[in-house]
Amino acid sequence: MPPRTSDAIVIGGGLVGAAIAWGLRGQGLETVLLDEGDIAFRASRGNFGLVWVQSKGLGAPWYQRWTRGSAGEWPALAADLGARTGLDLALQQPGGAHLCLSEPEFEDRAARMARMQSEAGNHGFDYRMIRAKELREMLPGLGPSVVGASWTPYDGHVGPLALLQALHRAFTEAGGAYIPDARVTGGTAAPNDFRVETAAGAFAAPRIVLAAGLGNADLAPRFGLDAPVRPQRGQILVTERARTILPMPTTTVRQTGEGTIMLGDSMEEVGFDTRQAPPVMAQIAQRAVLSFPWIAELNIVRAWSALRVMAPDGLPIYDQSDRYPGAFIANCHSGVTLAGAHARLLAPMIVQGSLDPVLAPFSAKRFDVPHAA
Ligand SMILES: Cc1cc2nc3c(=O)[nH]c(=O)nc-3n(C[C@H](O)[C@H](O)[C@H](O)COP(=O)(O)OP(=O)(O)OC[C@H]3O[C@@H](n4cnc5c(N)ncnc54)[C@H](O)[C@@H]3O)c2cc1C
Repeated sequence: MPPRTSDAIVIGGGLVGAAIAWGLRGQGLETVLLDEGDIAFRASRGNFGLVWVQSKGLGAPWYQRWTRGSAGEWPALAADLGARTGLDLALQQPGGAHLCLSEPEFEDRAARMARMQSEAGNHGFDYRMIRAKELREMLPGLGPSVVGASWTPYDGHVGPLALLQALHRAFTEAGGAYIPDARVTGGTAAPNDFRVETAAGAFAAPRIVLAAGLGNADLAPRFGLDAPVRPQRGQILVTERARTILPMPTTTVRQTGEGTIMLGDSMEEVGFDTRQAPPVMAQIAQRAVLSFPWIAELNIVRAWSALRVMAPDGLPIYDQSDRYPGAFIANCHSGVTLAGAHARLLAPMIVQGSLDPVLAPFSAKRFDVPHAA
């Protein structure tokens, strides 16, 4: 059977692939989004939902700028998706706090934020280090262990499952083709001419975007690309709904649009092990209770673990293949935060056929030491 042809194929229906596919469709490209089955690793269904800027890009100000640009695109993305799908993404961007539970933590944080501001140069980086007395007026029920926090105006949070659902719904309602149970198992590549094989048939297009999360590590070399990504486990706990209203998210405690409190999240190097670990869950709960003692009164109603998609330096990877122009790759460990940039900034670059120079530092060539030397 001849392959189904389109203007673009996106491999991976998680947050990264769905945001890019939606962006491509919005630019008028006939786009096919190929996704794996239900047993896939899916960071997009297990994350914390922060649209988070303040800790991104120490020593890499280009990442800080890209992240902040994405946070800036978020209101338009949420409004557009909300209007098209009727789904409420519960986006709030009131700024966010990183709580410090000891003086050394506060001092470390202050040094980090000062460095980020100096690295930002003319681009600027607004932040405040806030002491506990003032912080107590901003965040109800703060515990006595909290000595202060860093705060930036750029941070926020969103319902991540609503985001994923909205991207898929908007994409398909606009005529995009979402094909589930279509794990890419093989294919051929030539400049601006790609063909992939899946259990759901063969597909061909002059553009292809590898956005398969951890699956990109295997897929990339077939298209003249490189994605040295590894899994990093994170665990999250969710409480029953609370009456207390937290007016802003913190790095590890946030209140969802429904009123539940999410507590998280860990950073564990355990390979592809998605089991939950009670000692880690206990640490997450303990830090949450030290931050907000009233959380101890709430029942935990859900808990899970999921795998982040991490590059060796923790930064995103964006590339176009030198060998096979038309093949692009996108990987990141903050796919919620970067959804605004992926849908509204990266997708138009892919349509035009070249990545903007602002993305050059994100090329995987940065890991190619002999080549770089
Ligand atoms: C615990 C935790 C907390 C997090 N918190 C936040 C947060 O607060 N804010 C934030 O911005 N980010 C957060 N993240 C990160 C965010 O969830 C990820 O960056 C994002 O989900 C990555 O999306 P993805 O589409 O690249 O990967 P995935 O969600 O893993 O999706 C990849 C998709 O590709 C498909 N696939 C794989 N191989 C193939 C193949 N060969 N053929 C076809 N399809 C394939 C899979 O089926 C899957 O659907 C968190 C992650 C974790 C684990």
